[in-house]
Amino acid sequence: LGGRKCTSPKLQAGVVSSSASHPRKAAAQKVSVSSRTGPALRSQGNNAPTLQKPAQRSGGGHDDKLVEMINSVIVDRSPSVKWDDIAGLEMAKQALTEMVILPTKRRDLFTGLRKPAKGLLLFGPPGTGKTLLAKAVASESEATFFNVSASSLTSKWVGEGEKLVHTLFQVAISRQPSVIFIDEIDSIMSTRTENENEASRRLKSEFLVQFDGVASNSSDLVTVIGATNKPQELDDAVLRRLVKRIYIPLPDANARRVLLKHKLKGQAFSLPDRDVERLVAETDGYSGSDLQALCEEAAMMPIRELGADILTVQANQVRRLRYGDFQKAMTVIKPSLQRSKWAELERWNREFGSN
Ligand code: ADP
Repeated sequence: LGGRKCTSPKLQAGVVSSSASHPRKAAAQKVSVSSRTGPALRSQGNNAPTLQKPAQRSGGGHDDKLVEMINSVIVDRSPSVKWDDIAGLEMAKQALTEMVILPTKRRDLFTGLRKPAKGLLLFGPPGTGKTLLAKAVASESEATFFNVSASSLTSKWVGEGEKLVHTLFQVAISRQPSVIFIDEIDSIMSTRTENENEASRRLKSEFLVQFDGVASNSSDLVTVIGATNKPQELDDAVLRRLVKRIYIPLPDANARRVLLKHKLKGQAFSLPDRDVERLVAETDGYSGSDLQALCEEAAMMPIRELGADILTVQANQVRRLRYGDFQKAMTVIKPSLQRSKWAELERWNREFGSN
């Protein structure tokens, strides 16, 4: 994706001076984005940066440093996750295909009533594949993937959050189709509290302004995907904009079976169907990442038995994994989600979810 010329360049020079005005309203020189080197915003012709750095204004223009940081830290150049890498979650895959992937491939069909949603929320317990899904959406739709972790937004860029959000959207518009993925979106877009500080209030309103900008322009292919395991803490204004809310639950028995087989691919194991079924039953409540951790822990058992022989043993002489290894691993790796939290998410899904 890096260095791809934008097909629909919207980013324009010297126009982004106020967080309230949308950059595309003023006409100026078009720019494309090259991300591998240097400041990312460049003119199409001669590679000379054309975005003027406006006077330091709050929420204001493109700060070259921010643009560079977005391109180097936030743009994920290799979200090479494919649908097949994600076990189960068929309904979520289908919904995302309809909402994001098909509209980027058949823009002509997805207009009017079929206009795709610009904002969606993936909610559910941690470690259930929300990030994987967002990455797969980006790679299946060949979109530029902006991977924003909310906690890094607030910790690394203290006080700059508002400017970063502003610049992020401008870069996303210039590199569309784009997917902006905001992990832990609840931590920056939570319901207002009394002791909310000015910086986070401004960050939130900047997000809303920018989101409305891309949502109101039907030719923009910028999709915002938020992920959270605390949807009940989201600000109403944000929730209203994330119109599709897809519940990503803990894996059921079927999904756990697929996940276990998936994780064991390439491993030498001896697990007759009966043992697989025991494992499936005993891992009720485990998330995808818990199962991953469980398989990793189990896989260490034959290695630990080797003692000093580990330095000389032939790889093909390491014994196969067996049920007992998983049983032992389960004493160390437990489900990470409390039952009460699970029930709360199910309730929220019934009230606000799209599926
Ligand atoms: P989330 O964003 O929901 O917290 P992730 O998508 O980051 O979770 O998943 C964390 C890890 O758990 C993944 O890297 C993967 O190893 C595993 N995992 C979770 N769900 C799945 C799934 N449905 N299929 C395959 N792996 C999964």
